Amino acid sequence: MALIVMKFGGSSVADAQKITRVAGIITDSWSEGNDVVVVLSAQGDTTDELLEKAAEITPDASKRELDMLLSTGEQISIALMAMALEKMGIPVISLLGWQIGLQTNSVYGKARIKSIKTERIQNELDKRRVVIVAGFQGINKYDDITTLGRGGSDTTAVAIAAKLNADLCKIYTDVEGVYTADPRIVPDAHKLNVITYDEMLELASLGAQVLNNRSVEMAKRYNVNLEVLSSYVRKPGTIVKEAANMEETKISGIAKDSNIARVALVGLKDEPGTAFKVFRQMAKYNIDIDIILQSIGRDNTKDISFTVAKPDVLRTKTALEELHSLLKFESYSIDDSVCKVSIVGAGMINSPGIAATMFEALYDARINIHMISTSEIKVSVLIDQKHGERAMKAIHEKFFS
Ligand code: ADP
Ligand code: ASP
Ligand code: MG
Repeated sequence: MALIVMKFGGSSVADAQKITRVAGIITDSWSEGNDVVVVLSAQGDTTDELLEKAAEITPDASKRELDMLLSTGEQISIALMAMALEKMGIPVISLLGWQIGLQTNSVYGKARIKSIKTERIQNELDKRRVVIVAGFQGINKYDDITTLGRGGSDTTAVAIAAKLNADLCKIYTDVEGVYTADPRIVPDAHKLNVITYDEMLELASLGAQVLNNRSVEMAKRYNVNLEVLSSYVRKPGTIVKEAANMEETKISGIAKDSNIARVALVGLKDEPGTAFKVFRQMAKYNIDIDIILQSIGRDNTKDISFTVAKPDVLRTKTALEELHSLLKFESYSIDDSVCKVSIVGAGMINSPGIAATMFEALYDARINIHMISTSEIKVSVLIDQKHGERAMKAIHEKFFS
């Protein structure tokens, strides 16, 4: 007998038929004698639809009220799932974030989990009940509802698995595991049997939405056994784990992030302190910076460009207007028709030619690179958004065919 945490994403519980199928998966595991905690997302596109509803009222709703609204999606799916299990004669109880004492900080919209009280879950498990928990939500110290950010149900599942010391955390989704690239963009992508936490964390952070990056971070920190698998076909998925007797591959996957914009500042003074003043201003407005590029100085001026997340573009404009009157540089521009394509792999540390191979694939496809950034286990390029999918296919073909 084991303690298993299962998480099902929105597409897996989108309608009554899918809920019934998932109830079957849960029942099978419970009937084998396992203790089962289930974490659910909102059905289908519910979260997006709720956001649209809010936008119909006002474009700038407070983050507190947005969280109040968004958290309702998960309440619907857990109640329906509990009803499906009741109907099958399985003892079950559904619980919201606050009912399991899932405490977060107060950053509405992307709250971080601080603690979970396990007493309630444990009591219910002791009664041999299946416990169905609403993902993505918690409460802060004011007893107000918070949400964990898009894709946050993965994090709820991993956090519960870590806290309960579960034997396995299974993330059920609409693909059969983690692939070498998003199989919806690259049909030739193949499923990985295993991937390390570090590689998965990079892929998730660089745009592979199959797992939320915070959930991977947490799985690594608490050494949670993680499997990503399909809720449609019953076969083994992808195991995410610490590096140990891994296959000898140089790169494990390719990811694309379109949630990005490029900012260019032209004609800045070429003197000490310029970069400091630019990025201090960005920090003041709480804007996260990704790739940074500075040109070689000429005629006492230089250019700096960097990337920001798309939702931060408005704030970036405000910050730059203010900076413009302070620093008196020539001009600035913001381009949001770009995307970032990255390759990830622990094996690239000892393989100097990897970046060149990626650039060759882009050259063969006549795709221009605007910016490049590298780390020990990834290479990212910024290119025009319109070439994103073609770039992924070309790079995938180069490395995997
Ligand atoms: P869920 O609703 O189950 O949380 P998501 O939509 O968040 O599912 O994540 C699953 C999706 O992630 C897949 O449908 C797939 O299109 C996408 N995806 C992106 N990159 C990858 C990858 N490397 N491997 C598998 N799926 C990926
Ligand atoms: N329902 C939330 C979302 O759509 C959380 C999740 O699905 O993980 O982002
Ligand atoms: Mg998801």
